[in-house]
Amino acid sequence: MDKAKWSCTCGKVEVEVPVTGVRLKCYCKSCRAFVEQLGKTERLDAAGGSDLLQVAPDGLRILKGQEHLAWMRLTEKGPLRWYTTCCNTPMANTLPTRHVPFASFQVADLSPKTDLPEVQAKVHLKGALAHVDGPHGSALPMILALLRRTVTAHVTGKWRKNPFFDDKGHLIASGREPLPNDG
Ligand SMILES: [Zn+2]
Ligand SMILES: [Zn+2]
Repeated sequence: MDKAKWSCTCGKVEVEVPVTGVRLKCYCKSCRAFVEQLGKTERLDAAGGSDLLQVAPDGLRILKGQEHLAWMRLTEKGPLRWYTTCCNTPMANTLPTRHVPFASFQVADLSPKTDLPEVQAKVHLKGALAHVDGPHGSALPMILALLRRTVTAHVTGKWRKNPFFDDKGHLIASGREPLPNDG
């Protein structure tokens, strides 16, 4: 399986990421707010979209810097949005349970980019700040991939292998739940 490496800006955190996954651009307000809160708006495209690669967490390996990870949640039911506390680099979105194996990595800090799949879908276009050129693809491959991963992970027990959780199923880092005026 081809791998890429995700590194934060200062280099203290490195994660090995499989490059087999679904790549998409998300234009939702929350993805944008996450990047904006960390002061990294240069990672957004002209219409405010985030370039994301959805992968199976069992293929991820935190190579170093786990102690610099934290997460925030922008809406009550939204994903956990992981970033680094060393240099505020946005890293990935996950769900608060490891039963749905899902991690959506920010493409900006993945390298090399040569083996990455092309963008397959542009989603939540209602939240875009400008016109987004087509084709917009469909979210269906992403949903099917997630379903397939979820079923496979449960059949094989792979769901337990998720670097965002410890052996007991607790999150490896602390984070903050939405503030009343968020969202
Ligand atoms: Zn850093
Ligand atoms: Zn989004």
